[in-house]
Amino acid sequence: MICQARRVIGLGLLIIVLVGTWGAAQPPSITVAIDAGHGGDDTGGIGIDNLVEKDIVLKVAHLIALEAVDFPHIKIILTRHDDRYLSPKERVQNAQDAHLCISLHLDFSYDPRMHGITILVPTKATPAALALAEALRHSIAVPTVSWGTKSAPLWLRRFNIPAVQVNLGFLSNPQEARRLNHLAYQRRLARAILEGIESFLRSQF
Ligand SMILES: [Zn+2]
Repeated sequence: MICQARRVIGLGLLIIVLVGTWGAAQPPSITVAIDAGHGGDDTGGIGIDNLVEKDIVLKVAHLIALEAVDFPHIKIILTRHDDRYLSPKERVQNAQDAHLCISLHLDFSYDPRMHGITILVPTKATPAALALAEALRHSIAVPTVSWGTKSAPLWLRRFNIPAVQVNLGFLSNPQEARRLNHLAYQRRLARAILEGIESFLRSQF
């Protein structure tokens, strides 16, 4: 019940912020927290060529912040800037000025054929989180949005703002792992995420 009330309040605040920004004839803007998963001793998955999840997702997070200069309506904050472990509580604290959160992870499977990007939303996600996931699905060209049944997406609810998790590919798939290690591909993912955020903004008005 309390969670439900928080979600309603969270969505209400988001709408007030967005309407307020538009209503004042200022350039519309939104603050988005990019949460690079893992860090420090928590490496996340380790895949082909010893690629480490915590490093790749941090690079993509930094690129999102860099490429955001071309997206004047989007202000990016990072929940972690470097290779350190942060508890969920610290991540939420670092995202406290954000209106949206996108958590970045990678997938791992013992079947090397498994590949592809997955977008996860927490079960009972708010309409805004679903709209964000849908916008990202189009911009990153992901076939479907998955409802999170794993533990990771569930903790996204703690942000109390629309939050989704994007798994950027499988470190266990040889082709995908190599692509994920290339700057040009990382930058493409970063820009696709920013385009998804912008299209989410447009969809709200
Ligand atoms: Zn992860």
